[in-house]
Amino acid sequence: MVIDLVRDRVSGCEAARSGFILDGFPRTLAQADALSNLGVPRAALWLVISTREVTTRLLARRVCSDCGAVYSTDHHAPRVAGICDVCYGEGTSCAADNETAIRQRLQLYQRETAPLRRWLEEHGRVSVVSGTDDPRTVTERLLSAINPQVRTD
Ligand SMILES: [Zn+2]
Repeated sequence: MVIDLVRDRVSGCEAARSGFILDGFPRTLAQADALSNLGVPRAALWLVISTREVTTRLLARRVCSDCGAVYSTDHHAPRVAGICDVCYGEGTSCAADNETAIRQRLQLYQRETAPLRRWLEEHGRVSVVSGTDDPRTVTERLLSAINPQVRTD
């Protein structure tokens, strides 16, 4: 279903001619294969982060159960603890279950994405970028990695 949505969205329009960006998709080799009629990607960025860091981030993450606004107890807490800045709902909760559940989800993610990463590496299309550090630094790394890959001149 997602594959049909992506294929329909980028086929036969400006995106098909000038290119498009997929964020977080495809995640598996099977999904990439299903999109193969769109061509081999010109570039792929693979963000990496240590299990320890992602666990810390997920445990600090809070989500408003009313509107879905996302917070972090580390660096983006609501102005009033437990009250959503957007809708004033009182239902912010931890988005992750616990460290064990996070570890299991990361292992599943690794198993599902490893074949796709190998395939992208075999085709020389992937740049591995560290997702650790502040968002501005990570953004600069992503731009530095993608610019040489997509340059058309
Ligand atoms: Zn809210």
